[in-house]
Amino acid sequence: LVVLDSVNKHFGALHVLQDINLTIKRGEVVVVIGPSGSGKSTLCRTINRLETIDDGSITIDGDSLPDEGRGLARLRADVGMVFQSFNLFAHKTVLENVMLGPIKVRRQNKDEVQARARKLLDRVGVGSQADKYPAQLSGGQQQRVAIARALAMEPKVMLFDEPTSALDPEMINEVLEVMQQLAREGMTMVVVTHEMGFARSAADRVVFMADGRIVEEATPHQFFDNPRSDRAKDFLSKIL
Ligand code: ATP
Ligand code: MG
Repeated sequence: LVVLDSVNKHFGALHVLQDINLTIKRGEVVVVIGPSGSGKSTLCRTINRLETIDDGSITIDGDSLPDEGRGLARLRADVGMVFQSFNLFAHKTVLENVMLGPIKVRRQNKDEVQARARKLLDRVGVGSQADKYPAQLSGGQQQRVAIARALAMEPKVMLFDEPTSALDPEMINEVLEVMQQLAREGMTMVVVTHEMGFARSAADRVVFMADGRIVEEATPHQFFDNPRSDRAKDFLSKIL
């Protein structure tokens, strides 16, 4: 579904993505882990064109990434993204936050969008908060709203960049459970996370990055119990 072929990117002198080859199949859950600064966020951001690439190609469902205009808007609709910071619109209600994308970009009927938004909010467990404003919600609730908002666009793939790292510990699980549920329902997902429990249980594949390269790609079982590279062994010894 998502294919990165020999992708390279520089930030000035920094070669932040070095010859990245990665194929994400439909329904697959790929967890990306690696040390700080290894290029995980940049990788995610190139997939939905928040960052350009210098060379190589990225295709989504066979289409290469557009630079601008309608193609870009469609791409953004197809690729849902959830960040560490929830990025909800502060002066819109929870329900309005979830409705906004489909109405503006997909130009769908308002009543249908609203009905679907309420269903999505129920699904992520915040249905009773629909008429509140983001600031009135806990971090975990806000992040679940952010997930519902991304899902409202009916994306083909969901990208999560450390969705739980800004959360208080007691709220992490409620967000991970929503993600687990999505994974079980067959959503194609790319998840950057330091939650190794989630990686073990939800990932079909772990991608380990260091210094802008994919150093290792393995099943969670292989990766955690028998990492091949010294970089991965070193990383795991520090975090586990
Ligand atoms: P973390 O685990 O800390 O989130 P990461 O793996 O997500 O790290 P990136 O955010 O992708 O790493 O950054 C990779 C490198 O690129 C870092 O050295 C960072 O300082 C640099 N970088 C990221 N964004 C930019 C930018 N817009 N301009 C210049 N350098 C950048
Ligand atoms: Mg990052």
